[in-house]
Amino acid sequence: MINIVLFGPPGSGKGTQAENLIKKFNLKQISTGDLFRYNMKQETPLGILAKSFIEKGELVPDQVTTDMLVEELKKPSDCNGYIFDGYPRTSFQTECLDEIVKNELHSEISICLSLVVEDKILVERLINRGKTSGRKDDSEEAIIKNRIVEYYKKTAEVAELYKQQGKYVEVNGVGEIAEISEKLFAEVEKLN
Ligand code: AMP
Repeated sequence: MINIVLFGPPGSGKGTQAENLIKKFNLKQISTGDLFRYNMKQETPLGILAKSFIEKGELVPDQVTTDMLVEELKKPSDCNGYIFDGYPRTSFQTECLDEIVKNELHSEISICLSLVVEDKILVERLINRGKTSGRKDDSEEAIIKNRIVEYYKKTAEVAELYKQQGKYVEVNGVGEIAEISEKLFAEVEKLN
């Protein structure tokens, strides 16, 4: 199994790159942001709870997010592995993910691929995305900046944990989409 943690600040291209990795390696993507947005649209109790955090650019509490992830992993799938997009974002979640992958998939995280993009480009990309996506958290510069600050404050420790395990690889996230994908593919292929 190939289990990838796709890592990078909001606007770094995780969604786009996840799509290409999925096709290349027959993986299933689990995006906690997408799962929250789905629940918000359906107005489920989970969605209503998550909305109050998401619209301020804050993180949803760890336990709520982790329970949702476990539910998703329990669904049957014939994929070769998973891409975790948007999870883990804290050191608690990183430790949870190790346990969850062990218990639910009898496997382990293979690699943490980190897309590196400077802040100025992130803000520009997110403002542009907000114009078409209708995402409230992509439409105001202050909320966007808060999401980026939250990301660096809490997720730096996630990178540190994967570094300690020798599983952390940074890839430049600025450039042609296909070129960035090729660099990511090469890192995954090195695992075999
Ligand atoms: P994303 O689409 O990954 O940028 O996620 C959108 C929003 O959903 C984030 O700004 C958080 O409020 C929330 N969210 C997504 N994943 C997580 C997570 N792993 N832990 C806490 N909150 C999350």
